This record gives sequence, structure tokens and C-alpha cells, in this order.
Amino acid sequence: MVPRIPPGAARPSVLRPAEARGAGTLGGVRIDPHTHSLASDGTDTPAELMARAAAVGLDVVGLTDHDTVRGWQEAEEAVAATGVALVRGTEVSCSVDGIAVHVLSLLHDPGDIALAELLESARTARLRRAQAMVEGLAADFPITWESVAAQAGDLSTVGRPHMADALVAAGVFPDRDHAFASVLHSSGPYYIHLEVPHPRDVVGAIRAAGGVPVMAHPFAARRGKVVSDAVVEDLAAHGLAALEADHRDHTGADRAHARALARRLGLLVTGASDYHGRGKPNQLGENLTAQEVFDEIVAHGTLGVVWP
Ligand SMILES: [Zn+2]
Repeated sequence: MVPRIPPGAARPSVLRPAEARGAGTLGGVRIDPHTHSLASDGTDTPAELMARAAAVGLDVVGLTDHDTVRGWQEAEEAVAATGVALVRGTEVSCSVDGIAVHVLSLLHDPGDIALAELLESARTARLRRAQAMVEGLAADFPITWESVAAQAGDLSTVGRPHMADALVAAGVFPDRDHAFASVLHSSGPYYIHLEVPHPRDVVGAIRAAGGVPVMAHPFAARRGKVVSDAVVEDLAAHGLAALEADHRDHTGADRAHARALARRLGLLVTGASDYHGRGKPNQLGENLTAQEVFDEIVAHGTLGVVWP
């Protein structure tokens, strides 16, 4: 059993010795701050996600379901048994001139009314958009609203991943990635733009709620159109804390671009798996965040980390 971070500690003080961790890990603790459960479009329950995080040797995991905090409680309840510390977060949907932008809100106060309302409206927008997209897809592929909704758990809002799962179940594509790369792609004919706020407003709402805003996979062109450096610069001026550079949807050049821009703008740099369970290749812990960056995030978040 590896030594774990003591309960109630403001910062980790008992860490596994670096030599016990093997090569390729980032200094101290193994921290994966961006993952999804059944509360949005992942396939693991929050408790399963925590257990899996323990199994792959993570010390800290961030649960950041899309536009919701519904998975937090179950994940919190799994902290003691799994020995994995929990960062409570949300991935907030935003857009700039039709370009989808995702901003992680880490350690915000879930009781903040303005942010809670913003998340609620994003979920409503997601549902309306999903209904319209499924209508279009159902005209050309053997899926229905019912077959798509059946792919979403009780906790979750129907979204593109569930459309992908329904298309896979119908034998149209071998896996989610193929569906996303073609008919679900943001430049594809079935895509409908999600009506959500500008990230500048979201970053402001996250800060006002005591959260730490991190721009997820900012330059992942394979996911769709990406914003210009000027947009990131504007967000940095409005309170953005970090750029997620190490993400599987970033090429080496994208990562270098994110790092250079973060350095220029004085932003932190994070890495994460963006794990979604089965159906996406992302593996827990495949990208990590350095401990000194994590410490900065914890220092600026209102909500504490849930330590084992
Ligand atoms: Zn994500």
C-alpha cells in the first residue's frame, strides 16, 4: 500500500518517494485533474472512476463532468475507500464566434447561484441541440431519439457522445472517435452549434464562484475549429488561470504552442487524460499535471481538495 496524503492536510505532505514511481511521472504525486463519469458523457459511475484511478496509481483525480456537479457526492464518498484525493470540478461549455471552447472550473463553490444557473442553462441548451441533431441524423442513419437517450445514464444529459454510441450500436461506426471524426464533427453537415456563453463570461463566473478556470485542450484542431491566440490572451486578462497543454487531442506542436503562449501570458500549464471510460481511447493518468501547478490551483480555489 502506498502512503497517501493525510486527511485534512492543506497540502500534500506525505508523498510517495519519487524513486517508487518509476520514470515518466511528473515529480511528486500523480495528478489527473480532468475526467468524466456517467454524470455527463463518461461510462463509469463516479465510484467506479475513483476505483479505477486507484488501480492505475493516481493520487489525485479531478471529476469534471460537463456543466454539472451531479457526480461530486458519489465521488466524495469513494475517497476514503480508494485512497485517491478528489478535486471537484466541472467542464463548462462556452463558444466564441461558433467555435466550441471548454473551460474547466476547479474547486468552485457549488452554492454560487450565478455559476449554478449558467450550468443549468448550458444543460438546457445541450438538450435542445441534441434533439435537433438527432433529428437530422435519424433522417440518414438507423438511430432514433430513444436509441440515443438509451446510451445516456440517469445522471447525464444527452450529448454528441451518446449519438456516437448509438451510431456505433447501430453498426454505422466502429467506435466513438470515428463518429466524431465524421458525421459528428463540428464542420460536418449534422452539427448544430451549441448556444452557450462566451468564455470571458464563464471565466468571470468561475472566478466569482471561487473556482480556478483552466482552458481545456485549447488547440485541439482534430476536435473542430480552435480559437486564436488573441482569444486566449483576452481570457487571460479576464482571469483565466491555466492552459491544458498535455492532452491526447493535442499534437506535439499544439502542446508546444500552448506552453509558449502560457509562458507569455503568465498562465499555468496542466495536463490530463479527459478520461471518458469505455468508448474513448483516453486512459486515466495518460497525461498528468505537475504538483507545483496543482498546489497553485489548490491555493486559489475556494473548495478544498477531498483528501483520503
Ligand atoms: Zn473533458
